[in-house]
Amino acid sequence: MNARIPMVAGNWKMNFDHIEATAFVQKFAWNLKNAHFNFRRCEVALFPSFTSLRSVQVLVQSDKLKIHYGAQAISVTSQGAFTGDVSADMLAALGCSYVIVGHSERRKYHPEDDADIVDQVRAALADGMQPILCVGESFEERRQGIELDFAVGQVRDVTRDLSDEEASRLIVAYEPVWAIGTGMVATPQSAQDAAHAIREDLKATFNDQVAQTVRILYGGSVTSKNAVELIGQEDVDGFLIGGAALHVDELTTICKQV
Ligand code: PEP
Repeated sequence: MNARIPMVAGNWKMNFDHIEATAFVQKFAWNLKNAHFNFRRCEVALFPSFTSLRSVQVLVQSDKLKIHYGAQAISVTSQGAFTGDVSADMLAALGCSYVIVGHSERRKYHPEDDADIVDQVRAALADGMQPILCVGESFEERRQGIELDFAVGQVRDVTRDLSDEEASRLIVAYEPVWAIGTGMVATPQSAQDAAHAIREDLKATFNDQVAQTVRILYGGSVTSKNAVELIGQEDVDGFLIGGAALHVDELTTICKQV
């Protein structure tokens, strides 16, 4: 048993306008309250689109909800002529606790490389937000049997210049790309192996305290059917969830299982 508080993070991607987001949060909060959910035992966070963040903030503040929220992306610059970008200051002003960085969809479609992701991590940390750093191999890397080295290497490439204090504020999400949105979930043992390898490498790069502090989430086709076995793994500290986080009752069930 470790001292890390598990986390369930729902990444809505490009789904829900601000009215749908508000309705979801209201129902989700009601579900959790009804289930006497213990927020001290498991942290819950939602990642709406930029356009819904203000509505979620108002609702969370006015109803004193214990649900956290964050952004799906962040700019590396603080202000200026960067059309379409959203800065760390703006996200912090909206009450974001977390920012997802390095998601495979951002790496693929924008594309963001390790240098961008390092700057995003720094931008988030500088404004008091915790980055959730997504890493994970493609099907090809898994076929070659290099999945652990690949995921560990991605974490190392982004974190190597961080101080111990900065590194201890990171959250890592191990998300094999082949498992995202495909219905193909990693086995509990392979999620554990990856989380353990990442933690061991954090220990070698920083120290044991950092390694024991950083939460390592698993992401990739998590549902209420596989969550119990996955969360039973020693080094798996929770989930980053896409598809299943769009269904409020399903997300509630997963939270109760963690
Ligand atoms: C994700 O996009 O981070 C993710 C894990 O998606 P899904 O749960 O749908 O696989």
